[in-house]
Amino acid sequence: MGKSSIPKGLQKALLQPPVVVQPPWGQVRRNALRELARVLLAQTQWDTLHVRPYATQLEQAVFIQAQGQLLDYQAKAAQLAWALEQNGAHLAETYPAGALTDLDDQALTATTPLQRIFTEHAFKMHAFSNMILDTDRKVHDVEAQVAKVTGHSGALQTRCTGCGGTKISWDQKQTKGGDEAMTTFYKCENPRCRRTWKG
Ligand SMILES: [Zn+2]
Repeated sequence: MGKSSIPKGLQKALLQPPVVVQPPWGQVRRNALRELARVLLAQTQWDTLHVRPYATQLEQAVFIQAQGQLLDYQAKAAQLAWALEQNGAHLAETYPAGALTDLDDQALTATTPLQRIFTEHAFKMHAFSNMILDTDRKVHDVEAQVAKVTGHSGALQTRCTGCGGTKISWDQKQTKGGDEAMTTFYKCENPRCRRTWKG
């Protein structure tokens, strides 16, 4: 066998970079609609006549929110199908279909045991950001105390207020009488900023 057994056309195709084919929107949307309707039918007391317009409006709201991004659309549709699976009766009877896309995890899981988990999570995140703010405040207090002791306000000023850069050079000069505090001159070393200021 002197010749390769792979046909020329196939050889050529194998050398091409793979083409990612997106599924057609129509098909994706039909699948999502079918899934949302299926879950609603299973979780609510509604019949098909009631479920169909609700599911259709919901799917349209998801489509509008996704703004043409297929992955966003699929993620949102999956999230809502999941939420309806957990909490369909409550959600469908509490909200118009178009409002469901704007609910957060806590609202989506309201009345279910999952809500407690999301509430605890939100509470912990809140406590965590408060802790960071508190630490920030303490650092500022220390800076203020150091400034009082050293006699110039900028000993710990490590950020340029112009560009936020941290490469700052400084120099101290006696500008007033001999017993006055020194004045600190700062220069931002960011070549695109070069801001100077007095401390
Ligand atoms: Zn700067």
